[in-house]
Amino acid sequence: MVENKVIKMEEIKLLGKVVIKGLIEAKTGLRIGGSTVGLDIGGVDNPVIKDAEGKPYIPGSSLKGKMRSLLEKAEGLASEDKRVWLVKNRVSIHMCNDPDCAVCNIFGRTNGYQEKVTGEKIEITTTSPTRLIVRDAVLIEKSITEEMRKNLDLEYTEVKFENSIDRITSAANPRQNERVPAGAQFEFEMIYNVFDEKDKENLRHVFKTMRLLEDDYLGSSGSRGYGKVEFKDVKIYWNSIKDYESGKLNEKIIYEMKDKTLKDLLNDFEEIKTQISG
Ligand SMILES: [Zn+2]
Repeated sequence: MVENKVIKMEEIKLLGKVVIKGLIEAKTGLRIGGSTVGLDIGGVDNPVIKDAEGKPYIPGSSLKGKMRSLLEKAEGLASEDKRVWLVKNRVSIHMCNDPDCAVCNIFGRTNGYQEKVTGEKIEITTTSPTRLIVRDAVLIEKSITEEMRKNLDLEYTEVKFENSIDRITSAANPRQNERVPAGAQFEFEMIYNVFDEKDKENLRHVFKTMRLLEDDYLGSSGSRGYGKVEFKDVKIYWNSIKDYESGKLNEKIIYEMKDKTLKDLLNDFEEIKTQISG
């Protein structure tokens, strides 16, 4: 029975959207690399990514990509035969046709032929909309305090010299790494689309993945201790389709973390879930 595997788009009806807002605080220096092409890079070898106003930010794609990779590992979907090339020989992600796959449903699939890391071809025929949208997280300027500014090399960032050893000549090659200092906070927003009961349960994976990220790292040089982050002050809103019709949006707060942590949020998940109703 193949026909049950393919969920037709027209059969999918949006019940509403869960909006997750809050802060991401850098607990150690945070480095998400930016482009050195066509930008004023201030002489730094490895600048961090910045917006048009020159403020560092966390691209939604970086955050989402990291979360996807953490959930892939947690769900046992990270082996080579379960991954396809996103960029040949460089970036691979998990993708499959299982209509119940949490990773593919939350983070999305691309239809058509894909090449597995093992070389085999796979045709992705299961159609399901991506549930999770992750916006760029914007730096909260006042989180960079006067005290912190005294130790900064640039307006919002510090520059660390790191030695990398040339593998051929063994010569030390000092390079400058720009990073956002510990204590910096970013405002994040994620939107989670709910189509059915399963999506309500799968929302747990989103919070679990955020918790996993706190014990992992965001950006680069995680092995040097960079990129430890904490989610704070999380607020969860539920906007049903009826709310979109009436224009009453972000009025139903179904959870407020306040001074608690993601661990507490996960403990309260059943209660949060019951408040998501069509
Ligand atoms: Zn999958």
